Amino acid sequence: MPSHVVVLGAGFGGLELTSTLLDELGGDVEITLIDKTAGFVFGFSKLDVMFGRTTAEAVFHPYADAVRSGVRFVQAEITAIDAAALRVATTEGEFAGDHLVIALGADYDIPRTHGLAEVGHEFYSEAGAFALRDELARFEGGDVVIGITAGPFKCPPAPSETALLVDEMLRARGIRDRSSVSLVMPFPRPIPPAPDASSALLATFEERDIAWHSDTGVRSLDAAARVARLGDGTALPFDLYLGVPVHRAPAVLVESGLTVEGWVPVDAATLETPWPGVFAVGDCAAVGTPRAGVFAERQGATAARRIASRIRGEGADAAYDGRGICYIEFGGDEVGIVEVAFFEGRPNGTLQGPSRELAEHKREFGASRIRRWFGRDWTP
Ligand SMILES: Cc1cc2nc3c(=O)[nH]c(=O)nc-3n(C[C@H](O)[C@H](O)[C@H](O)COP(=O)(O)OP(=O)(O)OC[C@H]3O[C@@H](n4cnc5c(N)ncnc54)[C@H](O)[C@@H]3O)c2cc1C
Repeated sequence: MPSHVVVLGAGFGGLELTSTLLDELGGDVEITLIDKTAGFVFGFSKLDVMFGRTTAEAVFHPYADAVRSGVRFVQAEITAIDAAALRVATTEGEFAGDHLVIALGADYDIPRTHGLAEVGHEFYSEAGAFALRDELARFEGGDVVIGITAGPFKCPPAPSETALLVDEMLRARGIRDRSSVSLVMPFPRPIPPAPDASSALLATFEERDIAWHSDTGVRSLDAAARVARLGDGTALPFDLYLGVPVHRAPAVLVESGLTVEGWVPVDAATLETPWPGVFAVGDCAAVGTPRAGVFAERQGATAARRIASRIRGEGADAAYDGRGICYIEFGGDEVGIVEVAFFEGRPNGTLQGPSRELAEHKREFGASRIRRWFGRDWTP
């Protein structure tokens, strides 16, 4: 009988894990892939929709297209996980497997930034980013603050990209001279593991008159005064506040007793949790790499190879290496690429670009994932 793997979450990690398991095992594995949503959206597509480059419909990839022989997709909310019994409860019933993979991503704790829901806009959820499309189109100029309360947060370059794309939008609409753009980050530089890329970003911020506030977070938004109060005591006035909400593991992981210090513990090389047969990949796992799709994807592939070796009765040797590339939008359809290697001494990401050729590279990155996971063509 084929082995049964239950995959919790069909994001970057869960989709790549599913594809790699099928590549490795073909008909020797049955996969149940569970997600509460009906389809996948790339993180970077949120910015594309928000800045009016595309529509919400065009960036939505229905899971129905990802179903192949050997994969059963269940749209359901996972409500409890019994890791010792390799069993999960969902709104569509219970599922048990020979292996479980937890790939549930990170959730947002919006109320942790006082005032964010009332007078600010978060741009990290699909709903938040998509709603901002109209809000930005209506914006007539003024003080824009892009702020983070605390790390870790997904895709460390995304707030810097947002500042650059806001600047580009305001210039294109001829309202930059009556606006200010400020970026607040609780880090010493925009992308801590990538000094070259950070220096390039800081030089671009200076060139485009984007105010950079480092080493401090946004504590709260004062609705009456319309100022963002920072941890260092500064108050920044805003007409438009774009916020990165505080991240946390999905509640089901906490309630099922699977988190330590907020995230699911794993062996960083094997991605296995302390519960035998249970793996965790991507943003919900404490791997030691940034929360980003490229890292989740490579972790998913590694976990799949280890599970496949076990199912074949071989010694498992695939080890996660902490490598990844990040794309950075500089505006003007120019993209930079940073390559970072964690677990190999001090990470020091090197920057290529930015250039239009690399923007094409990023489009091909997205298109290739949709071909692999969903079996169809897509132009990002
Ligand atoms: C604005 C923005 C830009 C980004 N740009 C990039 C980029 O350019 N490059 C990059 O690599 N990364 C980027 N990212 C980050 C990237 O989107 C995430 O890091 C990545 O999706 C993480 O993959 P994952 O598999 O861990 O989780 P996810 O992709 O978030 O998938 C988790 C899945 O679990 C499901 N789920 C959660 N809880 C439950 C439950 N209880 N029951 C059922 N299903 C559940 C969710 O619906 C989701 O589909 C960006 C993120 C944002 C917000």
